[in-house]
Amino acid sequence: MTDAYDLGAKIRDSLYVVIDHYAAALPLGVKAIQGGGMPGSASKEAPPPVPVHVLDVRAMCCSRLAGWAEVVLSKRQLQHSSLQRGDALGLARFLVNHAEWLAGESGQIVADELGDSARELRALALPDPPTGVVIGKCPILVDVDPCAGTVRATPGEPIRCQRCGTTGALDWWQAVMHDAVAPALVTAGELISIVAMATGTQILTHEQIRQWAARGKIQRAGKDLKGRTLYDHVKVTEFAKTGQWPTEGAA
Ligand SMILES: [Zn+2]
Repeated sequence: MTDAYDLGAKIRDSLYVVIDHYAAALPLGVKAIQGGGMPGSASKEAPPPVPVHVLDVRAMCCSRLAGWAEVVLSKRQLQHSSLQRGDALGLARFLVNHAEWLAGESGQIVADELGDSARELRALALPDPPTGVVIGKCPILVDVDPCAGTVRATPGEPIRCQRCGTTGALDWWQAVMHDAVAPALVTAGELISIVAMATGTQILTHEQIRQWAARGKIQRAGKDLKGRTLYDHVKVTEFAKTGQWPTEGAA
């Protein structure tokens, strides 16, 4: 009997989830299916914007509830004049009172079916649980393309890409997102072509860049993963044009 008891509790839990989320699973402005009618008629009543899979989930849920309610009514020889096939909430509330009996009568299959509907409805009602502030699109390269997952900041948690799971502090994310749009720091080789393009006349050499850096006329900006020295091309271009190293914050 313990099994039937546990199964009954499971069935009841699923029914409560259905009751909680059936209405919320409907897109705003769409009325819950009520009154008589077969569950299948839902698609005729709802306006076009309702996604087909929402209709499917609701119709399937209704159909399961109605099916099990019929089992209860017929096998327990009950009369329940106000039960209607299309009234998911009414059916679910009715079944809550017969959960243990259903568990004993039909066992796992009831629990599985109603569990499926409960999960599907909950997923529709809460498609994106505890959200947060969207920081932007994830620029982390996966193979060769950016991940492009949504990066979210949720209070009390590291800022995380919802797709690849990369986490980082806000300033780090901002830096990598900015660099993905237009890399601020480039190697000497890239710097040469950028300055040539920007000025139209100046062709720097690696030696010249090294000398400028060694004399403190321009500043190095760290190294990349291969150990190559990086430069802020905006500032170096500015220096190449004016002979002045831009002060911090001017760029
Ligand atoms: Zn990502």
